[in-house]
Amino acid sequence: MYYFYSYWWLIIPGMLLSLFAQWKVKSTYKKYQQVNSKKNITGAQTAKYILEAYKINDIAVEETGGTLTDHYSPHEKVIRLSTNVYRGTDIAALGIAAHEVGHAIQYSKSYAPIAIRNTVFPIASLGSNLGYVLIILGMILGSLGSISQIFILGGIALFSFFVFFTIVTLPVEFDASNRAIKILSKGGFLDTEEIEGAKKVLGAAALTYIASAITAVLNLLRLVLMSRSRD
Ligand SMILES: [Zn+2]
Repeated sequence: MYYFYSYWWLIIPGMLLSLFAQWKVKSTYKKYQQVNSKKNITGAQTAKYILEAYKINDIAVEETGGTLTDHYSPHEKVIRLSTNVYRGTDIAALGIAAHEVGHAIQYSKSYAPIAIRNTVFPIASLGSNLGYVLIILGMILGSLGSISQIFILGGIALFSFFVFFTIVTLPVEFDASNRAIKILSKGGFLDTEEIEGAKKVLGAAALTYIASAITAVLNLLRLVLMSRSRD
């Protein structure tokens, strides 16, 4: 018999870190949303200027609903900015807009980690759910010996793809933010003082990805330990 609740405490650090990251993003975003940039241009204008400077002219910039829903869709070739970022002229808006353009630039420069990330995405999204299902099935079928072992090992292998995905997301996100900060600073969108604010907003956002990766690694560790603990 396997213990489903064994090593439950391995979930705690990831949970706490995720909660902290969420709070940090919200509070930092709120703070710098109130600091207007001296240039007084919107996030949408910033995105369009940068795309133009990089001679990327096949990508549209659109407004979308929600808060912090900003993203780049490579298939549709659209940068979607949430209303506050699209219309906002604050430091947070410019930082986030430039970050999303950073992703578009990654594609135009064939940045390797984003290609790897996209390759593992289908199996990773399958692995985050089906991996668990297989492992639990394997545990329930524990008495069937080798069949249950195949389920458990298969589940762990699938879940590993999800863990790998969360890890390879880190360089992708850090790189987009680094590009954003460099462009905003060199392009004169923000001055040195304002850049510090943009760095804080993007740094807080990066923390959520770090929290996801740590949570995934600990979950994998837990699944491995759990599958090895028998009554
Ligand atoms: Zn990003």
